[in-house]
Amino acid sequence: MDSRTLWIQTEQSGRYLFSDEHPFHPVRLALTENLLKHCGALDPAAGERPASFEETEAIIEHIHRADYVKAVRSLSVESPKLAAIADAGRFGLEADGDTPYFPGMHEAAVAVAAGSIAAAEAVMSGKADRALHLAGGLHHAFPDRASGFCVYNDAAAAISVLRERYQARVLYIDTDVHHGDGVQWFFYTDPNVFTLSIHETGKFLFPGSGFTHERGDSSGYGACLNLAMEPYTEDDSWLTCFSEAIERAALAFKPDIIVSQHGCDAHAFDPLAHIHCSMSIYREMPRLLQALAERHTGGKWVALGGGGYDHWRVVPRAWSLLWLEMVRHPLLASIDAAPDGGPLPAGWPDIKTTMSPDGPLPTTWLDDVASWEPMPRRAEITEKNKKMLELALQHIG
Ligand SMILES: [Zn+2]
Repeated sequence: MDSRTLWIQTEQSGRYLFSDEHPFHPVRLALTENLLKHCGALDPAAGERPASFEETEAIIEHIHRADYVKAVRSLSVESPKLAAIADAGRFGLEADGDTPYFPGMHEAAVAVAAGSIAAAEAVMSGKADRALHLAGGLHHAFPDRASGFCVYNDAAAAISVLRERYQARVLYIDTDVHHGDGVQWFFYTDPNVFTLSIHETGKFLFPGSGFTHERGDSSGYGACLNLAMEPYTEDDSWLTCFSEAIERAALAFKPDIIVSQHGCDAHAFDPLAHIHCSMSIYREMPRLLQALAERHTGGKWVALGGGGYDHWRVVPRAWSLLWLEMVRHPLLASIDAAPDGGPLPAGWPDIKTTMSPDGPLPTTWLDDVASWEPMPRRAEITEKNKKMLELALQHIG
């Protein structure tokens, strides 16, 4: 294992919980940590502590609009005032919406950002080469409103630290099945932050943006790249588009550091989207990012979590594979040698929780895709994605 990789503690972020019924749930973190512990690949207690609350709060107040942060604060108390509740919808926080306010929301969302800032700071200062903060990746939050389960944009907070403290050129790569819209719009006119997002096309999926013609604006034109994938895209087409786009972007942009977002909701089992990929992309994308960082940023790589709503079957394996790649764990040799990735360690899902899986749990690292029905429109989908990729790359040097 490689000691130049930091795990950022996530215990404070466990309070970022809308309700037990809400799809964005910290049980995903607990299951991932348990799986990694069973592999002997993690001691979370030894992880790096998040940045201080006060420091993070100041950064959040700097990147988000003052009236929005004030609204989040007012809605975070046990019994918010009627005026604050009446205003919640204006800030994307209405009780019956996707991102409902809850007691302690401000503190929990600041805690999430604190982890991502610590990760960025550790890597850019040279304390580590790589850092992973799985509670982060809240990529839909806007400067002035919450959206898509995201209150404060921890990725934007971390990138702003990299810009302002280090003047670093940041390549942000978003692998969530939903367009990384918040981060894109935060830096849309900034030529020093390149945002690249691969996702299911906004024609069919939230948030309805992320088309190839979104390429940045004013001096930031060209520092934005969107791969809008067809519904039912499978592994090969996804990975072809991803690998070519990240290489072209890095070559043209010459980043100092890579910040990646690892929502794992492009898996076929995910209930919120229609992409039909298997666990293989969650083995391959971290491998491609590690190699990209080696070639273009001297290894500097910050990775964050994100979406992923099949809590038991998908997220723990996907995020564990990411960490194993980041630490270059010897277990990867056996995972790569077996078509199904080989067996998961016994007992990995035994955590203390009131949540339970809907059905049988996976027993191997990768999926047995040979037993899956092939997509009837595979050739047509692959061709459409290829054309989309050509269009997306037109403006990249
Ligand atoms: Zn997502």
